[in-house]
Amino acid sequence: MKTGGIIAVVAEHEDGKINRHTLEVTAFALMAGASSGMRTVVIIPGNGMTEAGRLISEESGADVVLLESPHLENYTSEGYKAALHEFLMEYVSGIVMVPHTQRGSEYAPGLAVRLGAACITGVNGMKSGNGMVFTRQAFNGKLEMQFRPAADFAVITVMPGAAKPEFCSSGPGSVAAVSSDIELKATRYLGVKKSGAEDSGIENADVIVSAGRGIGGVENIGLITGLAGLFDRSAVGCSRIVCDRGWMEYGRQIGITGKTVSPKLYIACGISGAVQHLAGMSGSGFIVAVNRDPEAPIFKHSDVCVVEDLNGFLPEFIEEIRKRRAG
Ligand SMILES: Cc1cc2nc3c(=O)[nH]c(=O)nc-3n(C[C@H](O)[C@H](O)[C@H](O)COP(=O)(O)OP(=O)(O)OC[C@H]3O[C@@H](n4cnc5c(N)ncnc54)[C@H](O)[C@@H]3O)c2cc1C
Repeated sequence: MKTGGIIAVVAEHEDGKINRHTLEVTAFALMAGASSGMRTVVIIPGNGMTEAGRLISEESGADVVLLESPHLENYTSEGYKAALHEFLMEYVSGIVMVPHTQRGSEYAPGLAVRLGAACITGVNGMKSGNGMVFTRQAFNGKLEMQFRPAADFAVITVMPGAAKPEFCSSGPGSVAAVSSDIELKATRYLGVKKSGAEDSGIENADVIVSAGRGIGGVENIGLITGLAGLFDRSAVGCSRIVCDRGWMEYGRQIGITGKTVSPKLYIACGISGAVQHLAGMSGSGFIVAVNRDPEAPIFKHSDVCVVEDLNGFLPEFIEEIRKRRAG
C-alpha cells in the first residue's frame, strides 16, 4: 500500500558500512520532516545490510527499510534505479533524498525520470513556509537559488555538510526488509580497482594547508609545503584545478569528487571557495583563508580572512614564524 508524506533517504554504503554523508542527509531529512510533518524512512539498497540498518535506526531514530537483492550487493546505476523505482512506486510518495556524490549524481536524475518526479540537485539548505523550498548555491556561492518541487514526487540530491550528523532520537526506529526481484539487463559488475595513488595522509592530519589556482603555478608549491611544515601532523591538500593542471596528484584533492576532511585547522591559499571544494572541508575545526579578492566566497566560511597576495604574504609569514621559534 502506498504511503504519502514520506521523506525517503537512500543510503550509500561501502564494505557493509553506511557512510557519513548518508548520516548528514538523514539529519537533513529529519529536520525537513520536523518542519513539514513528514516521516523519514532510510532505504538501504543492498544485500545482508541488517546490522548497518540496525545501527542507523538506533543512531537516528528513523525507520529503516532494507531493500534487498543479490543484484544490489554492489552499486550499479541500473540496479539502484530499477529497485528504487519499483519500491517507491509501490510503497512511498513524497520526497526522495540522495547524497550528492558521484553515485547519487549518476542515478538520481534517471530515477526522477522513471518516477515522473521533479529533480533538484546540489541542495544545501531549505526554507519552510508555503510548502517545502530547497536552496542551492550558484556563481561560487554569490547567489542562492530557491526551488519548490512542482510534482508529487521529488528526487533531491543533498550536498555534503548540509546538516551535521547529530540526532536527538527518542529511541530506535523500526527495521523492515523488502526483497526486490530486479534483473540487471545492461550492466555487469566487474569489481572495484583501487587507484594506485599514494596515501597523502590528509584524512588523518590535524592541520591541512591547501593550494588553489591562486598559487599561480607548480613553482609555488614550495610556499604551501613550507607553511605546512611549520605544524606537526600536517598535510598538503589542493583544489581540483590544481590537480587538473598537474601541479599536485589527485590523491590530495579535497572536495566533492576528492577527499572529505575535518582537520583542526584548514588553511586555504588562493582558493575561491566553490561549493564543490567547500563540500570536502567545511567540517574543519578552524578555517583560515588567504585570498587577494575580499569578495572571495571562501571568506564567508572562514574564521580568519587574510586579504593579501599570497606571493608576498606567505614567504613573510613563514619567515616570521621561523624567526620567533628560533629566538
Ligand atoms: C562536478 C564537479 C565536481 C567538482 N569537484 C571538485 C572538488 O572535489 N574539489 C574542488 O576543489 N573543486 C571541484 N570542482 C571544481 C570547482 O567548481 C572549482 O572550479 C574549483 O574548486 C576552483 O578551484 P580554485 O578555488 O583553486 O580556483 P578559482 O576558483 O580559480 O579560484 C582562485 C582563487 O585564487 C585567488 N587568487 C588568485 N591569485 C591570487 C594571489 N596571488 N594571492 C591570493 N589569492 C589569489 C582568486 O581571487 C580566486 O579566489 C568540481 C566541479 C564540478 C563541476
